[in-house]
Amino acid sequence: MTFEDLPIGLKTALAERDYSQPTDVQAAVLEPEALGRDLVVSAQTGSGKTVAFGLAMAGELLDDGGELNRADSPLALVIAPTRELALQVSRELGWLYSAIGARVATCVGGMNPSHERKVLRSGATIVVGTPGRLRDHLERGALDLSALSAIVLDEADEMLDMGFRDELEAILDAAPETRRTLLFSATMPRPIEALAQRYQRNALRIATVDKGRSHEDISYQAVTVSPPEIENAVVNLLRFHEAETAILFCATRESVRRLHATLQERGFSVVALSGEHSQQERNQALQALRDRRARVCVATDVAARGIDLPSLSLVVHVEIPRDAETLQHRSGRTGRAGKKGTAVLIVPFPRRKRVEGMLRRASIKAMWTDAPDREAIMAQDRERLLETLMQPVEVTDADRELAEKLMTQKSPAELAAMLVHAHRSKMPAPEDLMPNTPEARRAAQQEKHRPGFEDTVWFRMDIGRKQNADPRWILPLLCRRGHVTRNEIGAIRIGPDETYFQIPRTLADKFHSATQRTAGTESDEEAIRFEVSQDGPRVVARANRKGRSDPGRRPRPPGVKAQPSRGPQGERKGDFKGKKKGKPKGKFGDKSGSPKNGGGQRRRPNDS
Ligand code: AMP
Repeated sequence: MTFEDLPIGLKTALAERDYSQPTDVQAAVLEPEALGRDLVVSAQTGSGKTVAFGLAMAGELLDDGGELNRADSPLALVIAPTRELALQVSRELGWLYSAIGARVATCVGGMNPSHERKVLRSGATIVVGTPGRLRDHLERGALDLSALSAIVLDEADEMLDMGFRDELEAILDAAPETRRTLLFSATMPRPIEALAQRYQRNALRIATVDKGRSHEDISYQAVTVSPPEIENAVVNLLRFHEAETAILFCATRESVRRLHATLQERGFSVVALSGEHSQQERNQALQALRDRRARVCVATDVAARGIDLPSLSLVVHVEIPRDAETLQHRSGRTGRAGKKGTAVLIVPFPRRKRVEGMLRRASIKAMWTDAPDREAIMAQDRERLLETLMQPVEVTDADRELAEKLMTQKSPAELAAMLVHAHRSKMPAPEDLMPNTPEARRAAQQEKHRPGFEDTVWFRMDIGRKQNADPRWILPLLCRRGHVTRNEIGAIRIGPDETYFQIPRTLADKFHSATQRTAGTESDEEAIRFEVSQDGPRVVARANRKGRSDPGRRPRPPGVKAQPSRGPQGERKGDFKGKKKGKPKGKFGDKSGSPKNGGGQRRRPNDS
């Protein structure tokens, strides 16, 4: 099967994109037996399914001469679960039908509804939208379905999972009985079967999902790390792969916010995508990735479905997906349309069994490995640098003139070294990771099982690394403000702008009221705000006591001094044992060395 028999307008659009062969799902919907019929299609994301339903509906949109059918209201409607997917489908149908002159309108939550009404009034051939917004337009009379001859439910399983049954039924009930219904779904659970039963007639089933095949372009890796090292592992993975575009998945908006801030601080060009951003912000973020102003995207699952960025070759599951299906959807952002991609799961040691089960359920074989270390990254850098520097470049006379001037002042070896240095310094520094040894894993387990800390509450305070936060003065401060002893404070995690720490649940109320009572405006210490954090430091995870060994390498905010460096075993030089010698400086540093609290000489097992 080729695209040869298609109407000229569609053929031209496909040829302009260099799409010469239909994908499996496209070939299937173009088979004679599928023409004009309702379809239930199980096709994986990345299989070319958008173009497939675009082509499938051609019979309803075009007359025999390949010209657009005339109508006063839309001829086709596509419903998609998320705003991003709807916008993407709209773009895809836009180019596919541009030569034919079809107008595509998009109706999605978060965008200006009155603008959408205007576009609908002015005449749209195809309408693409999210269920809630489409139903709103329908109920307000802005969306006229009387001429509709095709309706597509894209990712129908996801729409039902997201609770859009009522909206879908309202729309389907309002559409003419004579329309074609095309149901696309990655999986076919019972509720989808029921929907097909109720709203379709004599539907043809097309299944192009082949379990093995859906992963074949994605190579999976599972990287085990100690929980406090998750962030460092992310940095090193990004540096090792240097993907043109990478997406990092977190479980919550808060994690997205924190990881985004951290990566930005380290010099990555990064955008964030989560439910807390307005639609406009989300569109801008995706646009920045498309035109390469950004290379890394930190996202929650809500933004994950359907996103199609052709240059995306690395997916990192920073926080483990909630189930095998989410794992596949997230990973399916790469390895699309025949391109190769890598999906990396970051697996904290204690979660390994869970991840193994999830991979088994998804029939995915992953390579278990360590996060890339500094040496591996440097080796990759060397290869890439050589490749980049050996690329032919066009030089001008002015360039040559300057080069000759430089040659009179420096040797060729010096100049080459300077060139390498200039390239290298553009890249964020890799992180030093703790060795992935049985001892390190045991220590991580012990952290989980410290007596009295089986059930804890995470608190958050609004100072972090940028304010020179350090356990040496944070511990005594927590004791003073929260009326607890050091032994009643669990793990402490310091992020760029905030610090998280654990308090046993039995003491949480008492601690919380003490921090409120001791709040005030008289001193810096009184001005610090405390609150309970529902999520805890999921991705801040920077070990404040065993953390990175080279803090001086990354840009610091102005006025923030480098932390003391470490000895070969990771201990800090001149602190903990040094009493006054290690007294920290900075906003609150002068309070840490109070004789009563001693500046934090002891290292508690679960702080690392
Ligand atoms: P989808 O499954 O619709 O998200 O499509 C995945 C990607 O495949 C999109 O970037 C499409 O534009 C691209 N694509 C669709 N059809 C073809 C084709 N026949 N040949 C090459 N790429 C295609």
